[in-house]
This record gives sequence, structure tokens and C-alpha cells, in this order.
Amino acid sequence: MQTETLIIGAGLSGLSLATQLAQSGRDFLLVEARDRIGGRILTEHSGAGYFDLGPSWFWPGQPRIAALISQLGLERFDQYSIGALSFEDEQGRVERGRGFASMEGSYRVEGGLAAVTNGLAAQLKPDRLMQSTPIVGLTRTPNAIVATGNAGQEIKAKQVVLALPPRVASRITFSPVLPQATQAAMTGIATWMAGQAKAFAVYKTPFWREKGLSGDAMSRCGPMVEIHDASPAEGGPYALFGFIGVPPQARQDAPSLHQALQDQLIRLFGPKAADPISLFVKDWAFDRYTAIETDQRPLTAHPAYGLPQAMSGLWDNALIFAGTEVATQFGGYVEGALEAAENAMARIERKTPARQEL
Ligand SMILES: Cc1cc2nc3c(=O)[nH]c(=O)nc-3n(C[C@H](O)[C@H](O)[C@H](O)COP(=O)(O)OP(=O)(O)OC[C@H]3O[C@@H](n4cnc5c(N)ncnc54)[C@H](O)[C@@H]3O)c2cc1C
Repeated sequence: MQTETLIIGAGLSGLSLATQLAQSGRDFLLVEARDRIGGRILTEHSGAGYFDLGPSWFWPGQPRIAALISQLGLERFDQYSIGALSFEDEQGRVERGRGFASMEGSYRVEGGLAAVTNGLAAQLKPDRLMQSTPIVGLTRTPNAIVATGNAGQEIKAKQVVLALPPRVASRITFSPVLPQATQAAMTGIATWMAGQAKAFAVYKTPFWREKGLSGDAMSRCGPMVEIHDASPAEGGPYALFGFIGVPPQARQDAPSLHQALQDQLIRLFGPKAADPISLFVKDWAFDRYTAIETDQRPLTAHPAYGLPQAMSGLWDNALIFAGTEVATQFGGYVEGALEAAENAMARIERKTPARQEL
């Protein structure tokens, strides 16, 4: 198999670049390790409800994601934030109304963020996207780069775009090996939110809203440290979600974690929280196509992202990084995934200005 541009990773960044290449009439192939597209964007459906297990929000001042949502004919809506915030101290004592709605002003997408990645994928010819194809090796030959899939399949390309977290890309075997400084830069870039886990409790009614609570909660007791309303734009089923503050290794015992989650929801929102339609957890820290072991050490702040010098100009500019972690302005965010795709497209256009045949 051969192509002009091989994109590795069908998350938002890889999908966005693929649609730009398609629109410009360029030849490409998009390969994805998982049996689904979207990467960190993952929306679970339950009845008429949709729940974002990865990112949920985008914000004012993020132009690319706002424009893409409207191009795809999707609708955004405001994060629910009416009512009091709840605060739980170390002993599990609950107070109301301290502080403001912590995510007021954030936007969500009707249908969940997967509606965006599905919308992009729908613009691609089906034979341009290969799922369940983890790339394990990249070998530079005099005229091409040869990518090897885990089943031994080979794809020959003029250039390769790594649209995945640099740490995850560092697991690929590069031949010749990448310079030491490049390897160090790749493993040094923490993957945004990779060590996180989200818990969801889905309910028939939004009983917390009826009590004048926004669903926002901060907790020093845990296991969830920050909780928000995660209901669809209109109608039910309704949901609360929380970021689990317990370190990855300590949240592996599912039955006791679920019990602790339920107990916390009851403390914060009352006895009606005891009866969810479903309670589930998505732990990204153990998802091999998002996180490596180092990501299991929780980040305390949003890192300064961007494309380090050591990760540019590789293999005569034929090995290009995309993915949100190399975006300078919005690195880490969904907006950054689009920014990085835009930058990768600009590099490709500089290299191959006109339509080319292999
Ligand atoms: C829990 C959580 C909450 C978040 N909340 C927000 C939020 O509210 N707002 C926000 O803006 N951002 C948020 N983020 C960050 C957001 O998800 C990312 O910025 C964005 O989705 C990154 O897209 P990407 O395409 O750059 O990377 P990814 O989505 O990671 O895509 C990389 C793709 O590469 C694939 N891949 C990996 N290895 C290989 C291989 N060897 N071969 C082939 N394919 C491979 C992966 O399977 C994946 O599909 C959150 C992330 C998480 C996990």
C-alpha cells in the first residue's frame, strides 16, 4: 500500500488534517490503532442521553472549534450552571453556595463531542481511513517512509504525520533511531488529561436542579474532586460527572470505587443520588493509546505546549508532528488539536505546493 501523506492517529487532529488534505485534492491515508475514531474524544450514548467521557467543553475565544461546529451543522449549548455550588470538606461535611459555578461560560456540543469527530470522518472516503491498525514501526528509506502495522502490513508514504500524543508516539520503533534530544523531547511532553478518570452517574430526573443545586461541587474528601452537571441540552436521562482525584493505582478496585462514588454523591446531593440508572467510570490512565506509564503521575498545572525545536525538521521534514500537545496557543485543548492540524497542513503545503501523484 502506498500514499503521499500517511496520518497516524484518527483523533480530532488527524481527522481535521485528513479533511483538509481531501479538500485540497491531496493523496493521504489515515490510520488508527483503536477500533473507533475520536481518540480522547469519546461519547457514550444511553437512551437519548450522550455523555462525554473525554473532553466535554470548549470556551469563548476558541475560534476553530466554534467554526467547525457550525460548519458541521451542530449546535453548542451552555454548561448548566444555575443554582448553588456544593463544597465538601475533608470530613465529608457539605456546605452550599461557596464560590461560583466553576464552569459557567463553558460550551458543550449537542450530541457530544463525538458528533464533531464523526462529522469529520463522514467527509472522508471510507477507503482513506483504516481502523484497528496500530503503527509499530517507521523506517526511512531513500525515497519514502515505510510504516509497519502490528500485523506486519506495510504502508509506503512520502511523508508521515504523527497526530498523536508525543509520548504515545515514542513507543513506535523509528529506524534510524531518532536523535536523543528528539526522544527526550517526545517523552518529556505530558499528555493533557491522560492520567485522568471521569465518573458518571446517570439519573431519570435532575433532582439536584429541583433542589436549587447546579450540580457543581468541589470536594476535599473524594473520590471525586470536581463534579458538574453532564446532562444533555434538553431532556434526559440526566447526569452528574466528576473527575476522580484518587491516583490511578489506587482506583483499580472497581466495586469499592463505585461504592465510594455513590456514597459521595449521596453526601453531596441527597438520598435521590442513591438510585442512578447507571454509574460508570472511564479511566484514561490505563488506555495504551492515550497514556504511557509516566502519565499516571497527575499533573498539577496546564503545561506550556508547542513544537520543540528537537521535534521539527525530522527526516528532511518528512516526519511531522500534529496532535494538540504540539500546538503553541491552545496546546492540550480540542482547539489545540485543530491548531496543530492547521500547522501540519501549512508544512505539507510548503513542501508540496501543487497536487502531486506518487
Ligand atoms: C478526561 C479528559 C477530559 C478532557 N477535557 C477537555 C475539555 O473539556 N476541553 C478540551 O478542550 N480538552 C479536553 N481534553 C483534551 C482533549 O481531549 C484533547 O485536546 C484532544 O482530544 C486531542 O486530540 P488529538 O487528536 O490531538 O489526540 P488524541 O485524541 O489523543 O488522538 C490520537 C489518536 O492516535 C491514535 N493512536 C495512538 N497510537 C497509535 C498508533 N501507534 N498507531 C495508530 N494510531 C495511534 C489514538 O488511538 C488516537 O485516536 C480532555 C481529555 C481527557 C482525556
